[in-house]
Amino acid sequence: MKLYDLILSSTTCNHPDGIPDVLGDAVLVAENNIYRNIRQSVKRLGASFVPAWSEYQMSPLLQIDRIIKDKKIPYIPTLNILKQIEAVRPHLFLVEEIPSTTKSFHFHESCHVLAHDMVNPTLANGERDFALKSLLCESFANATESFATIFDSTSRCTTFSEYNFYFTTSARHKKNATELIHELGMNSVFRIILYSYIYANFLYKMVSYGDFKKNLPRILRGTTVPKKLQKKCYQIFLDGFALNKGFRLKTNPFFLRLAGVDQDFFKLVDFNFQNKIDRSSDLLQIIDDMCDIVEFGPNAKVVIDLEKKTALRKAKKIRLK
Ligand SMILES: [Zn+2]
Repeated sequence: MKLYDLILSSTTCNHPDGIPDVLGDAVLVAENNIYRNIRQSVKRLGASFVPAWSEYQMSPLLQIDRIIKDKKIPYIPTLNILKQIEAVRPHLFLVEEIPSTTKSFHFHESCHVLAHDMVNPTLANGERDFALKSLLCESFANATESFATIFDSTSRCTTFSEYNFYFTTSARHKKNATELIHELGMNSVFRIILYSYIYANFLYKMVSYGDFKKNLPRILRGTTVPKKLQKKCYQIFLDGFALNKGFRLKTNPFFLRLAGVDQDFFKLVDFNFQNKIDRSSDLLQIIDDMCDIVEFGPNAKVVIDLEKKTALRKAKKIRLK
């Protein structure tokens, strides 16, 4: 594809919630339901999008606290960068000829902002609780990206996903997931994908089909899956295990140490998190809320409740001043 055509395909689409400087962002907001749900939810909670500052470009991980606190989500102005290249030699370059891939991860960071508002991990409740909740936030961001790619409704959506997500999904996974959504509903399918990333972030190398089948009623909180669909559920559950090993073994432990955790990461995650979740009404509610945000976006009950809380906090601050 010519760079000129890629740019044209992005600039011919506008959406009031899109970021005009980011390649394909308005297209994804307009044509991908999940991308739009996350965008409109995070905006409803007061977040805004700003060009990435230099420290973020050096190390996004170091900036996550600032992003969550200020609710200013950084983006890379990828469209502007590509427009500049095109202007130097118009109609010449093919997209494949551009040496560095220009990506922006503001969707992933938006998921972190939403997850943090729901989960609120704090070291005050102990290192293990903090690790569990932090990994839950990360898993939400991973799973939502993966789930969103299933909803690329046009070929230009699929193209632009590659510029706005850490990873994209295989055609086979997309087909399986779409069929399952039709049979079981969005909530159940997202739940399976979310758990697959929780297992992966908890360093599970693999979960056997037998163990998955045993756990499925717990994951789906009692919803039964017809026998003929169980294998397909397992196939989409394997999605999370493709998560980069370096990320699982390096980034998560580094993030937790940075946040003040002293315990060894391997010891910290060595407990039955599924039991812990099943016994905690708070954690079960958080997972329900995560599924609702993905499905209902700004109209999810949790978003409306969080918006009210944010407004109350702001009013209190103003009164104190
Ligand atoms: Zn992340």
